[in-house]
Amino acid sequence: MPTITSQSRVRLSLSRWGARLSAVCAAAFSLLAFPAASHAFSKITPERLAPYFEPETVAAFDAYIWPGYVMAVAQDVVEVVYWVVLLCFALNTKLMEHCTALAGRIGARVKSPALTKTGAVLSKMWGDDGWAAAVLFVIAYLLIERILFFPGTFYFSWVREHDFGYSVQPLWSYLWDWTKGLFVSLLSKSALVFGLFGLARRRRNWWLWLGIPCSVLMLGAGILDPYRTQIYRDYERLPDGEVRQAITETLRKAEVEYEDVMLIKMRKVSTRVNAFIAGEGPSRRIVLYDNMLEVFSPDEIANAVAHELGHLKDRSWIRKIVGSLLLTPLLWLFAVLLRRLGRSGRFGFTDDRDVRCLPAIFALLFVLDTVQAPAANIISQTYEHRADDYALNLLHKPEAFRSLMVRLALVNASDLHPPLWMQFQWKSHPPVVERAAHAEDFARRHGIEMPPPTPQAFFLPPEFQKKLDEKRKKAALR
Ligand SMILES: [Zn+2]
Repeated sequence: MPTITSQSRVRLSLSRWGARLSAVCAAAFSLLAFPAASHAFSKITPERLAPYFEPETVAAFDAYIWPGYVMAVAQDVVEVVYWVVLLCFALNTKLMEHCTALAGRIGARVKSPALTKTGAVLSKMWGDDGWAAAVLFVIAYLLIERILFFPGTFYFSWVREHDFGYSVQPLWSYLWDWTKGLFVSLLSKSALVFGLFGLARRRRNWWLWLGIPCSVLMLGAGILDPYRTQIYRDYERLPDGEVRQAITETLRKAEVEYEDVMLIKMRKVSTRVNAFIAGEGPSRRIVLYDNMLEVFSPDEIANAVAHELGHLKDRSWIRKIVGSLLLTPLLWLFAVLLRRLGRSGRFGFTDDRDVRCLPAIFALLFVLDTVQAPAANIISQTYEHRADDYALNLLHKPEAFRSLMVRLALVNASDLHPPLWMQFQWKSHPPVVERAAHAEDFARRHGIEMPPPTPQAFFLPPEFQKKLDEKRKKAALR
């Protein structure tokens, strides 16, 4: 009888893995290959779209959005392949060998007493001098990943965004943002890995040591929000005038404590709009993209702020505490899984103390994210509905609310009729037509007069539309 060697077992399981992976990829791509067929599975029919959007707009948005979906799935596939290749072909071990050699060479060259001293302190914290190789491993891992993604990311977030007139960011500024993002990611993830694995090497129950303080930190992290976004963009105070008046009036009605209302300077970078609230209590700021002033009326902007205040009022401490309490069991689960995978000896790492398990951590996070997405999106969409309700009840201006929603979709080029499966797997917000209908419902229930919708009623201000059109024309000529 032929015996199955451990090597052939590994090969068998790899080919099974490969077959499963290809089946998932094929299914995802076939869903995306036929946008027209996919839209037939949307609960938003063409009849429901017609009162708000011209058919040409719907077609133009589909043409813009669909390749982005294909790209998102393709990037996921690239990422999964990256992990599988690293883990199943022991390339993580190879990479670590190179990093260890490089760390040794760098260490031999360092002559500065200050650096030597810092190195000694870090070695003491880590337990031995392997920390430098571990940090280099993280950096190499992330750099390779970013480089693999760069062509796709660049094409979709710069080239196409320019072609469709949504981005006005100069190339140097885009690349500067990309570099800043890369450095922030390298720095924060190296520090995280140093801390995480440093802890795991000392304490077998690291998940408990990490989980409890992090849960507490998660509860207070919001205070830092206003300062985090400042890495990328400048803020200025919203000047006095009708818009500021409409917003302060809304804040007064909602009885919300705040520091100031700010504009974030996005005009030079993007034609999209957004508004958000950052910070807690007295450090809280209401932030608007400066583009909003060109597109929306003071009443529409007040509704946008009221919607955000709805989220603020809806946030219960119990939900936050439950969320942060889930962290520790989740970390425990990761520790158990990593130890099991490590023990199997198939993935190029030994256990949860071995930095080579990093790709497995990202893979597990990916699985977790994919599995929890439908539930998270259903919850998020419910909360969006509730925030809409809050805004409608606070301001009693359903017409302004409706035109805010429809124009937001027009300016930001939202998917107007996502297929049902996508609505669950990817969308945190309800379809725009549902939100507009919600405002009409509110008006009916409260006896507020509201004209029936027509696409013309939601046209963007001519100046702004002209700017968008000119940019697209210029892009078409290029
Ligand atoms: Zn919202």
